[in-house]
Parts: sequence; C-alpha cells; structure tokens
Amino acid sequence: MSQKPDAPAVHHALQLAGDCGSCFGLCCVALPFAASTGSAGFAADKPAGEPCGNLGADFGCGIHARLRQRGYAGCAVYDCFGAGQKVSHHTFGGTDWRQAPDTARRMFHVFPVVRQLHELLRHLAEMLDRPAAAPLHAELRRALTGTEKLTSGTPDDLAAVDVPAVREEVNPLLLRASRLVRDAEAPGPKKEHRGADLVGARLRGARLRGASLRGALLVAADLRGADLRYADVIGADLRDTDLRGADLTGALFLTQPQLTAARGDSATVVPRPLTRPAHW
Ligand code: SF4
Repeated sequence: MSQKPDAPAVHHALQLAGDCGSCFGLCCVALPFAASTGSAGFAADKPAGEPCGNLGADFGCGIHARLRQRGYAGCAVYDCFGAGQKVSHHTFGGTDWRQAPDTARRMFHVFPVVRQLHELLRHLAEMLDRPAAAPLHAELRRALTGTEKLTSGTPDDLAAVDVPAVREEVNPLLLRASRLVRDAEAPGPKKEHRGADLVGARLRGARLRGASLRGALLVAADLRGADLRYADVIGADLRDTDLRGADLTGALFLTQPQLTAARGDSATVVPRPLTRPAHW
C-alpha cells in the first residue's frame, strides 16, 4: 500500500510514510472495519485486534495487487504515516505480535496513537517546508520536536498520551501557519468553508483558491475543474469527491489518503510530494 514519493526534507527525515515491508501488518490487525462499499469500503467485517483473513504469515497482504477489485478499497486508501514501522521496530524493538502474544494488545492499542501523532508531525513538517510560514518556523520546530518525542516513548508512555489535548495544542499553530501561507499565495478575500457540510455539493469550476475547507464534508461533491490552489483541506472528507480537472497546486495539509479516496483524472493537478492515485 505504501509509496515513497519525492518527499520534502523534514517529512523525509521523519519517515512519515508507511513502509509495509517494515511493519508487522499492524493496520491489518489492530484496526476494526465493517463491510461497506465506496472509496473507503471493505468486503467484510473485522473487529479490532483480530488479523484480517488476507494477512499472510510474512505480514504481507495476500490480495495486495487486487484490493479494489476484491472490495477492499479502504485498504488501498489507508496510510499509517509511518506509525507501523515505528511501533514495530522502535516501540516494540522488532518483536512481533505472533512471537510475543502477551504484548499484542498493547501494540494494537498504541498503534493508532502513534498514527495520529505521525499525522500531526506530517502537518508540522509540511509547514516547515513552506517558505511563507518562515516567521513561525521556530515555533513549528519546537512543536515538531515535542510531538516527535512523544512518539518515541515506551508502550506505557504512549498509552498515556492524550492525543486530543496534543492536537488542541498544535492546531492553533497550524492555523496561523495556514493563514500565512494562504495570504502569501492567494492574496485578497478567501472563501471560508471550515467544517461545512458540502456532501454532494455542486461546486464544479468553483474558485476556491486559498479557501479554508478545514474539516469540511465534501463526500461525493462535484469539484470538477475547481481552483483549489493553496486551499487548506486539513481533515476534509474527500471520499468520492470528484476532482477531475481540479487544480490542487499547493493545497495545504492534503494527504495521500485523502487524495486516494477521491476521484480524479489525468487533468487533475496533484501537488508534490503526493502522487497521482493509480486508479485515476
Ligand atoms: S485486505 Fe490486505 S491490506 Fe486490507 S486489512 Fe486485509 S491484509 Fe491488510
């Protein structure tokens, strides 16, 4: 599932992309899923802590090349942001849950904690790679160092991390950085759709350059040909959003899972370091 795109320096140094070959298949065991269809669908139900039936003895996926055809588009969309290899080899020292079943529960418990922290690290790293956010780089670096330190804790330390509190602390800084970048790259008035319910909205050709779409619900929205340059899409739900021909140049906080959950085509402008999803 994982890819290693041409990542900017900070992002790359922190290894914030999943590397399935260095993981004990944690997302395929720790996380629950329920049968559903669509861009984040699964063909079966699975409770948390139970290995998926397609997971091999080598922690590889037996249907990796055919996930979408077999109804597991949700797996094709997922990225742990590097939490899998961190928990497998740093937190638990390279001993997997089959070798040490007594630690399995704890391993599965801390994996989503590290995943959420790594997603935050990814956002902080992105702002450190944006020249327009330079006035905040010292603060961003401190926040990144503090968050990174949390991810390096013991299993007990990680189990005690209050992720919502960490997010609450970091979010205002990300907001300020977002404003700096958007003001520099998209001067003038900007659309404000923070947290908006835009499910199925008809926004074909919309001018959303520098807009705030933070946490917006854009499921199945029609954004064909929209100008989304430098729009802030942190946490926006882009499942089945139609991005054919849309321009996402410089879009802020856009992640590969968000992009992969959307629809697009060869005319969609994908910002670096993200890659065009194979199914587009
Ligand atoms: S289908 Fe493959 S990628 Fe998805 S949970 Fe199962 S083993 Fe993992």
